[in-house]
Amino acid sequence: MPTFLWPLKKTLTRVVQGFGDPWSANTKKLHTGLDIPAAAGEKVAAAASGTVSKTGDLGKDWAHYVVLEHASKDYCTSYLHIDPIVRVGQKLQVGDLVGCVAKIPGSHLHFNVWKGQANQLLTQRGALPTTDNAGKVEPTTDPPFPSNFLDPSSFSYRYSNSTQETAESQGRVFTITRDLAKGSSGPDVKLLQQILNSDASTIVAISGLGSPGNESELFGDLTENAVQRFQIKYSIASAGTPGFGIVGPKTREQLRQIYQRN
Ligand SMILES: [Zn+2]
Repeated sequence: MPTFLWPLKKTLTRVVQGFGDPWSANTKKLHTGLDIPAAAGEKVAAAASGTVSKTGDLGKDWAHYVVLEHASKDYCTSYLHIDPIVRVGQKLQVGDLVGCVAKIPGSHLHFNVWKGQANQLLTQRGALPTTDNAGKVEPTTDPPFPSNFLDPSSFSYRYSNSTQETAESQGRVFTITRDLAKGSSGPDVKLLQQILNSDASTIVAISGLGSPGNESELFGDLTENAVQRFQIKYSIASAGTPGFGIVGPKTREQLRQIYQRN
């Protein structure tokens, strides 16, 4: 059995729906993977190297999915309820960015592990709901449970902070699209802190919350101070200038350039 890389940055703390759990109260269908709580925008990394064999739309409120066939062709992993950034046929290294957790009600990553090749498994309805089936948990012809699915929690995982660094540098998905200021919170604040932390002169904190590897989703005094140093460094704003310490369009553009260069 391979050791996979955990596809999310956080270690596994809680599964909202496990492998083999009833999908819902009024169906015989069983849940084929793990539902892992994750914020919209959170990066999803390839659990092992392989080739993207399928991507698709799961329909309203379910977003998209990616199936990755691993190099040995022994296993596939799939990632559901995401906004993919990869194309079919694309080769990924372990840790490369597959996409981001989609903004859907109750955002989460549904993570599957399958034994065998993708083309054998994809013929099994119920393995992946098609667009037509989206929203319907139990299409009448579905098996209660597709064979060849394995319990993801029976595998061992590596948890790596560098996962996200690798994924981000390869994926270059810049998700800061709104103005950010003291009091803002969200995954985009975390990305802001990560970019600020990529340069010693704009670092958010040397240790503790906000320090490299410990970035948070909260924009507080330390983040504001780092944004101000960033704005001075790139001649965007200075003390007394409107917007000093606020991530507006100019600051965003500079952040984006640095992010995509790194
Ligand atoms: Zn699920």
